[in-house]
Amino acid sequence: MRPALEFNRRIPDPLEKATAEHILEIRQWTEKLFSVKVSRSPSFRFTPGQWVRLGISSGSGLPGSVIWRPYSMVSADYDDYLEFFSILVPGGAFSSRLAASHVGDTLFVEKQPYGYLTAARFTGGRHLWLLASGTGVAPYLSILRDPDVWQRYEERILAYSVSYAREIAYRDALAALATDELLGPDRPPLRFVPIVTREAVPGTLHARLPTLIADGSLERAAGLAFTPEDSRILICGNPTMLDDVRDALVARGLRSDRSAIPGHFASENYW
Ligand code: NAP
Repeated sequence: MRPALEFNRRIPDPLEKATAEHILEIRQWTEKLFSVKVSRSPSFRFTPGQWVRLGISSGSGLPGSVIWRPYSMVSADYDDYLEFFSILVPGGAFSSRLAASHVGDTLFVEKQPYGYLTAARFTGGRHLWLLASGTGVAPYLSILRDPDVWQRYEERILAYSVSYAREIAYRDALAALATDELLGPDRPPLRFVPIVTREAVPGTLHARLPTLIADGSLERAAGLAFTPEDSRILICGNPTMLDDVRDALVARGLRSDRSAIPGHFASENYW
């Protein structure tokens, strides 16, 4: 006889830790990049830069069978919806199901957001640098719509690395920052540095981020220098890129920001 424990094993109900939201909109950027807007529970609160686990039904037919993955919020903390930016991982259990979803389908959103990739974590500094590769740009779209980020820092720089120019997503949202009245008047515009690594495109840099930091090209393109006094830097994207960018910044005399010892840069690798 099989042990009773196995028969009684409890299948967790996703609604214990998540709310069931519905998909409002799906935007396809390229064949493998897409964004999803979902409804937002009025009780869900987050700080721009944070992430949350999303759950999607595995389709196995078993009750409570849900696949979970972390995604950063793209939307502002005051939007009445949540938005996420995803790459379609070929054969990926979660992203392939998400990409095949339709408006009205259910997506579970955990009630608890996580993460410390936030602009408010830093002490001091005048220039906020946001360094991204690929879908790692997601949290910065939320951070850049935060009025505090426009008040507290004198300059904001977004360096966004993609392999091909058509993979630069959210150009419209980045352009709209210039006229967003919520962000306050009389402020210098975002310094946007697009980086395209696999094709030469006028007006963009053409090497990986660690190289661009080491040889000074990123600073020249941004028109600002990395200094311990002025620079506060967030890094998000490819895990190997995070390691190499951190090394490049340390070589420039900057150090990691830790709760015990304030520093100049921070990154987060949530899986
Ligand atoms: P990706 O591979 O991070 O970005 C493509 C760009 O990164 C290309 O320019 C590529 O250059 C460059 N790159 C790749 N490896 C690099 C390295 N070791 N050093 C420097 N540059 C490098 O794009 P992705 O596939 O979208 O991955 C994004 C990452 O962000 C994932 O790890 C994801 O988990 C993470 N992330 C996603 C979210 C979200 O909400 N979706 C949030 C936070 C973080 P080449 O063309 O030369 O290869």
